[in-house]
Amino acid sequence: MKPKVLITRPVQQAAIDEVSAKCDVQVHAIDEPMSAELLAKALRDVDAIMPCGLRVGKDAIENAAKLRVVANIGAGYDNIDVNECTRRRILVTNTPDVLTEATADLAFALTLAAARRVVEGDRFVRRGNWPHWQWNFLWGSEMHGKTLGLYGFGRIGQAMARRGRGFSMRILYHARHRVPENIEKELGAQWVDRDELMRESDFLSLHVPLTAETHHSISRREFALMKPSAYLINTARGNIIEEEALVEALQAGRLGGAGLDVFEREPKVHPALIEMDNVVLLPHIGSATAETRLRMALLASANLLAALNGQRPPNLVNPEAFG
Ligand code: NAP
Repeated sequence: MKPKVLITRPVQQAAIDEVSAKCDVQVHAIDEPMSAELLAKALRDVDAIMPCGLRVGKDAIENAAKLRVVANIGAGYDNIDVNECTRRRILVTNTPDVLTEATADLAFALTLAAARRVVEGDRFVRRGNWPHWQWNFLWGSEMHGKTLGLYGFGRIGQAMARRGRGFSMRILYHARHRVPENIEKELGAQWVDRDELMRESDFLSLHVPLTAETHHSISRREFALMKPSAYLINTARGNIIEEEALVEALQAGRLGGAGLDVFEREPKVHPALIEMDNVVLLPHIGSATAETRLRMALLASANLLAALNGQRPPNLVNPEAFG
């Protein structure tokens, strides 16, 4: 009998075909998260799941007696209860690398948009009351020569550094470990401690995963350290910032602005942020290009098939559960 697989989004047919060649596939064809009840019910009978933007917690896998693989479509896997999966010897995989450039592009787009008031200007023109060219109007912040601070300096953080260098920015980064010297040299990047990163950045872009350690790691203390002219860019995960503290800092003029792709209570956005002209808001589209989404779905398929085949999948998150 073929293994049973649940794909929780209507991903590209090419990826569905890859899995269907070896497995009995059920696709949740509606492009919205499955309800907890529906997920728990569906998981009772499947060997593997390919979730995307869906919480797969302890409650969901409790009765998933046959489940062997969770092949997450996404680089971040904070939506999966990895500990519980490991305890049950369920392999968890993710899709890093293939979305690095698309996500860095979006982080840089947010940086430019916030700095040069692109969305604000667009809204102004669309309102149809542009009287004449003005000297003193929509002045933004330059990026060249400014300091780009990268909190997290893995795949996406480094891709962001490359973009910053192209704009002649000074690059500082913080991660728990320094990257090898040749990478620092190539990217012209300097490691600093966390507080210095907060103090020195003109643009602070977040590229750490969401973990217990990074949860709310940008909060009142950090905003107090940051320059009042600084911009905060977040394409990582919403919960890394304490959103209430961000709102307070912006309302008090203790921050220049923000560019946000992710939020603490997605899809809900703090109502105060919606009112602010110096904040650019996007609906979690970091990896949203046709090429990248296809690569993500195909990589998740490859991970899933390898795992079902008893091989070590290329992007195994919990090696303790393997073998
Ligand atoms: P990565 O290559 O694993 O890099 C993560 C970086 O964070 C590393 O430099 C790591 O270095 C650092 N880090 C981890 N924990 C830290 C901590 N407690 N304090 C300081 N630094 C820490 O990950 P990536 O591929 O760049 O992706 C980063 C995140 O972006 C993902 O986890 C995901 O949540 C998010 N993402 C979002 C979108 C979107 O659609 N908006 C798309 C793709 C990815 P050390 O281990 O040395 O600390």
